[in-house]
Amino acid sequence: MGGCHSYASTSGSVREADTSSKAEEFCDIIGYKLKNNNTRAAPSLEEKPYLMQDYVSERIAEIDVRTLTELPEGFDKAEWMASHTVAFFKHINLFSSALSEFCTSGTCPAAVGPGDVTYCWTDEQGKKVKCSAPLYTDFTMSYIQELLGDEEVFPTKVGSPFPKGFEFLLQRIFLYLFHALAHLYWAHFRDVVRLDMHPHLNTLFVHFITFCREFQLLESSDTGPLEDLISTLCQYHRT
Ligand SMILES: [Zn+2]
Repeated sequence: MGGCHSYASTSGSVREADTSSKAEEFCDIIGYKLKNNNTRAAPSLEEKPYLMQDYVSERIAEIDVRTLTELPEGFDKAEWMASHTVAFFKHINLFSSALSEFCTSGTCPAAVGPGDVTYCWTDEQGKKVKCSAPLYTDFTMSYIQELLGDEEVFPTKVGSPFPKGFEFLLQRIFLYLFHALAHLYWAHFRDVVRLDMHPHLNTLFVHFITFCREFQLLESSDTGPLEDLISTLCQYHRT
């Protein structure tokens, strides 16, 4: 288990029973798909509940995220990317805040993501620092917020140019936002489900990933640990 939270059900629980039967169902599907001597092990649904069909198929509405993401004709690309960056930051920050009572230095002493990847903050001296998940979130969100408020980086006045290296900066911002989402899926998905937020989280994540792919903002090596979720979500949400 790579989660940093104890997920033992206290309610006895219909949800646990559902989980068990769905886990069997999912393993059947995976087993079927992996015939022909493909011996890759199916993911454990205990470890990755976000892959369960009942959850992964949920979203808030039928949305054509590809059209929503593509640069419309006549729009400035940098403006388009900047406005989406602000919107993704606000939404992801909102999710992190809504789940902050579950993500403490006690429950999450390290900022872990799928596959037990640990995200480290790089301090001003360029040194990597291991920190708790809430502290990592605080560092990264504060860093992004400061950039978004910097007129030199995200100009708001008409005709002001975006800086050189703007897209490189966006890549870093989107990497931090991806880490926040990855931590929520990996460590807090059961909390997300309890709060019935998973349709929103799935919709946001699909939109986020589609946007990153459209504008090459994330490396496949960065998204690799969540590739199983990404491909399953994209299949359900037809992106
Ligand atoms: Zn956490």
